[in-house]
Amino acid sequence: MKNLLHTKIIATIGPASNTVEKITELINAGVRSFRVNSSHGTPESHLQEIQNVRRAAQDLNIYIPIILDLQGPKIRAGILREPMNLKEGQVVILKPAKEQGNEDFIPVDYPELFKDLKPDDVILMDDGKIQMKITSTNAENIEAVVTDGGVLTSRKGINVPGVKLNVPSITQRDIDYIKFAVLNKVDYLALSFVRKKEDVLQVKEYCDIPVIAKIEKPEAVENLNEIMAVSDGIMVARGDLGIEISPQRVPIVQKHIIKEANSHKKEVITATQMLESMMHEPIPTRAEASDVANAIIDGTDAIMLSGETAVGEYPVEAVKIMRSIAENVEDSNLCQYNTFEPSDEDSQIIASAAIRMLEQTTISAIVAFTRSGFTARLISKAKPSVPVIAISDNKAVCDRLNLLWGVFPFYMEFGSGFNEEFLAKLDEFLINNTSLKKGDKVVITGGMPSMGLGTTNFVRIHQVQVQ
Ligand code: PGA
Ligand code: MN
Repeated sequence: MKNLLHTKIIATIGPASNTVEKITELINAGVRSFRVNSSHGTPESHLQEIQNVRRAAQDLNIYIPIILDLQGPKIRAGILREPMNLKEGQVVILKPAKEQGNEDFIPVDYPELFKDLKPDDVILMDDGKIQMKITSTNAENIEAVVTDGGVLTSRKGINVPGVKLNVPSITQRDIDYIKFAVLNKVDYLALSFVRKKEDVLQVKEYCDIPVIAKIEKPEAVENLNEIMAVSDGIMVARGDLGIEISPQRVPIVQKHIIKEANSHKKEVITATQMLESMMHEPIPTRAEASDVANAIIDGTDAIMLSGETAVGEYPVEAVKIMRSIAENVEDSNLCQYNTFEPSDEDSQIIASAAIRMLEQTTISAIVAFTRSGFTARLISKAKPSVPVIAISDNKAVCDRLNLLWGVFPFYMEFGSGFNEEFLAKLDEFLINNTSLKKGDKVVITGGMPSMGLGTTNFVRIHQVQVQ
C-alpha cells in the first residue's frame, strides 16, 4: 500500500480548470477534493463545475468530495464606471450603493457597514493593497483619506480590521446557495467570516451538510473552541486572516488552530497563497515549498490551492508540486504518526488499540467499516502510519471520507454479520480493489454486530487469504 498520499489536496475550481479533461488531469496529479467558490461566478457556472467534477470522478472510479464555499458577510466595493486611481492623501467619499452612478464616490455593497464605522477606523480594500482612514461619518456617507494608494476596480473585497461588525451570519445569497448545495448533493459547505458558533448553527438550520468554519476574523480566533464544537471542520483561511490580524501573526495563529482542531478531532484545512507564485510561474519559490511542508508538519489534514488552480496559468503543475512536497514530508521523520490518546470512551479506546497494533506487528493497512464515517474519522485523527481503507455502504459517505487524512474510501455492501464467509468476500474485495495481496496483515475495525452508527466496538488482526 505504497504511494498513497495521506495529506489531502483540495483545488479551487474556476475558469482555468473547469472542464472534465482538466479536472481528470488534476485528480490524476493528486487532487482529492474540489472547492466551488460561490463568491465568483453564477449558479449556472457552479452547477457546471459540480457536474464536471462528478463526471470526472465517476470515470476515474474515485470518490471526490465537493466543498461549496459560502461568501458569508463579505463586504465588497460596488460596480465602478472605470477603475479609480486612488492616491495617497486623496480625500474620498464612500456611500452605500451597488453602483457608482455619475458621481465620484466609492460604492459599498453593504449598507449595514455604515452603522458600525467611526472616525479613525481603517478601511482596507483589495486584500489590503489600498488603505484609507475615516475622517468623518454621517447617515449617508463616510469621508476618508487614502493612506496607501492603488487602483481600485469593481467588486474588490473590503476589510475593516478590529471593528466588530453587526452584519448577519449569512446573507440571502448564502441561503440561496445552501438550497443549491442541498439540491445538488454537495458534500461540504465552507462558511466565510465566521465570528461565533451561532454563525455555523444558522447554516445547520437550513441543511444537514457538514460545515467547515473558515477562520479569518479575530473574533473567530477568540471563539475558536465554541466554533469548533459545532463545526465539522475548520479552515485556516490565511488570505483574509492576514488582512484582519496582519500577515506577521498568521504563522502563530495557524499553528494554534491546527493544534486545537487536532485535539478536538476536527478536520483542518490550511488555505491560501500556498503556491501563489505558480499563478504565473511553473516552479514555486523556496518559501512556498517550505510553507506547504510546514503546514503538514504542523498537522494539517488538507492543503488547498485557490487562484493557482482556479485562474492560474499552471494548475496541473501546481498540484504536482504540492503532491511532491507532501510526499517528501510524509517520507521524512517529521510527520507525527500514530498519535493515540488515553480515553475512557469505548470508541476511542478501540481506535487507540488499532493504532497501537501498528507499532507491535507488521500491518499493511487498517480496514475500517464505517457506515456514517465516524470510525474512519476517529482513526484518521490519530494520523495512522498506514493507509485506512474505509469501507462504507453509503456512497455519499464515501465521497465525504476522501477529505480525511490517510483515509481511502471504497464502497461495498455489507450486512450485519461478520462471519468467515464475509471475511472471504472481504479478502476478494481487497485483492481486487487495493494493492493489498495474499499474506498481508491488516487491522480490521468498525461497529459490530449491528454495525450501528456512531460506534466503534471491535478491532482484530486479519491476514489476507486467497480462497
Ligand atoms: P477565500 O477564503 O479564498 O474565499 O477568500 C480563504 C481565505 O481568505 O484565505
Ligand atoms: Mn476569505
